[in-house]
Amino acid sequence: MTIRMAALPSSPIVNLLLGPPGRQRVRASQSLLALVVYLVFAVVQHAEVMLGLIDGAASNALTVFNLCGGFTFYLAIRAGLNERFTADPSLTLPQSAFAMVGIAGSYAITGPARGAVMIIMMLVILFGLFALSARQARALALWGFGLLAGAMLWKSQTDPLRYDPRVELVHLLFAAIVMISVSVLAIRLGALRSRLSRQKKDLEVALERIQTLATRDELTGLLNRRAMVELLAREHPRIERGQGPLSLALIDIDWFKRINDTHGHQVGDAVLRRFAELLQARLRAADALARWGGEEFLLLMPGTGRDAAQAVLERLRASVIDGGFEQVAPGLRVSFSAGVVQCGDGESRDQALERADAGLYRAKQQGRDRIECG
Ligand code: GH3
Ligand code: MG
Ligand code: MG
Repeated sequence: MTIRMAALPSSPIVNLLLGPPGRQRVRASQSLLALVVYLVFAVVQHAEVMLGLIDGAASNALTVFNLCGGFTFYLAIRAGLNERFTADPSLTLPQSAFAMVGIAGSYAITGPARGAVMIIMMLVILFGLFALSARQARALALWGFGLLAGAMLWKSQTDPLRYDPRVELVHLLFAAIVMISVSVLAIRLGALRSRLSRQKKDLEVALERIQTLATRDELTGLLNRRAMVELLAREHPRIERGQGPLSLALIDIDWFKRINDTHGHQVGDAVLRRFAELLQARLRAADALARWGGEEFLLLMPGTGRDAAQAVLERLRASVIDGGFEQVAPGLRVSFSAGVVQCGDGESRDQALERADAGLYRAKQQGRDRIECG
């Protein structure tokens, strides 16, 4: 029996009964709920015994059967044995199939009030409809119908006074109507569920794409300017928090307009992509590189002081010089100039960026292909 339970508060008793929060807790709570239903069922049955409708020994035997089964499922889930059944870790199908056996047994002992027992069986099938696949729900309905038909046949043969064969035939016909309706419902619900899960997958893909579009530069795949501004806003306060230095560098490809003019815009694009790949491949995990504008990039280096940042940039400069751009266009050589700064105490992000920009300007003035520290 599967019911979506609201999240239960964590208290020592709840933890003991249901285990730590998570999927297993939900499953344990469902099996415990089934156990409570069996208990209520036992109480009602006992009342029927007192009313003289049911034989006491038969009622006790059925109660023991139901409670032992329900408790076994609960223990199996608490022990984690259910997780071996990857197709149905909640054990919905076996738990429902077991409940059906108890209900058919109850039908066989309840005598004149047995019509009500059929309603309980419908209830189990209804729960199954929401948790099981169409095929499983149909199999469960067929199983219940078979058990009920067996109980009817047996009792109409052995106890025809209380189980009039004509009444049993009517009951059987109604049970068949329920079973056929459940099969039709199961197919419709199955189609609805698969459409919903398809739509959910489509939405996940669309969401991922939107996130990529919002944070990544389309040409190079690097962070875009907006994402870098957000990252800067998150990283910059680390200086005030005393979490180590923060350096940044503005990097600009030299004579890029000339590359475009000589080799065409397509080659210019290919240079930008290769340039981004080269830099990205040589950065540490904590560093972040963004395309800041046309052929300008911003490198953020958390936990890196001025001298170390300069060394990083020199390393990048060397790797761009040997970057193999001749493969993009014959005879093509690419270099960059950069302004590097360590963000100062009490200095705003914009002030640090302005200093880096001033460094870049000096590097260009002094002949390009060089790093200037601010
Ligand atoms: P400097 O050494 O002073 O930086 O000179 P530069 O030629 O690199 O700089 P300038 O600002 O004069 O030219 C930048 C060029 O970059 C101009 C623009 O058309 C080109 N550009 C900007 N974005 C793109 C792009 O996405 N693809 C291509 N192919 N070119 C671009
Ligand atoms: Mg340039
Ligand atoms: Mg530029």
